[in-house]
Amino acid sequence: MTNTNGKGKVIAIDGPAGSGKSTVARALAALMGFDYLDTGALYRAAAIKLVSAGVSEDSGDDLLSSVLRGTLIEFKNGVVYLDGKDVSEEIRTPEAGHYSSVFSAMKPVRDFLLEIQRNVGGTNGSGGIVAEGRDMATVVFPEAWRKFYVTADEPTRAQRRYAQLRKKNAGVTLSTAQSDVASRDDRDTKRAIAPLTKAPGAIEIDTTNLSIEETLERIMREL
Ligand code: C5P
Repeated sequence: MTNTNGKGKVIAIDGPAGSGKSTVARALAALMGFDYLDTGALYRAAAIKLVSAGVSEDSGDDLLSSVLRGTLIEFKNGVVYLDGKDVSEEIRTPEAGHYSSVFSAMKPVRDFLLEIQRNVGGTNGSGGIVAEGRDMATVVFPEAWRKFYVTADEPTRAQRRYAQLRKKNAGVTLSTAQSDVASRDDRDTKRAIAPLTKAPGAIEIDTTNLSIEETLERIMREL
């Protein structure tokens, strides 16, 4: 089955922060010769733009929409561009993570990124795309060829998040990572629009006791 943008096979991978889905999605895309779409990166880029424009979570939809109307976000060959500038580094700060989680609950942001997500990918000839995020299988690519829900228990995800954050910021503590994961879970699962949930028909993979290689093998068996 082709995806909703008519460009070819979509493998949709959803899951909470720290589940290992990004690493696995990237590796899977390389293995399959598919494009890789990191939709969290797009939410992070949008958040950077909104914060730098002085928008806050209380600003209201009209201001959000007008700032986003003049914004260009692109994802090309694994690199995210905001208004033409490579923001790959900037989007990985804890601040960008926090604001992406906050702004991702807002309708103008989700509407703005929906078309961008559907139009990315399928440009490498194979036509395939591995799309990873929170609402890939439920909202963005409901007709995806394969759907996965990748998760892990909360302590494991917090530990992974901690290891990841520490690479860039020596001052980060395990308890900061724990509260980051818990608050993002809370916002992602409880928001009114496109909450994080396992799509009907999605295959759930619990990576708590799995390595990246084992997770990848498990996914490959389902293709
Ligand atoms: O995956 P990552 O941590 O980079 O995503 C940043 C934030 O963007 C998440 O905390 C989530 O709130 C939001 N997001 C989303 N829908 C997606 C991808 C990310 O709401 N498809």
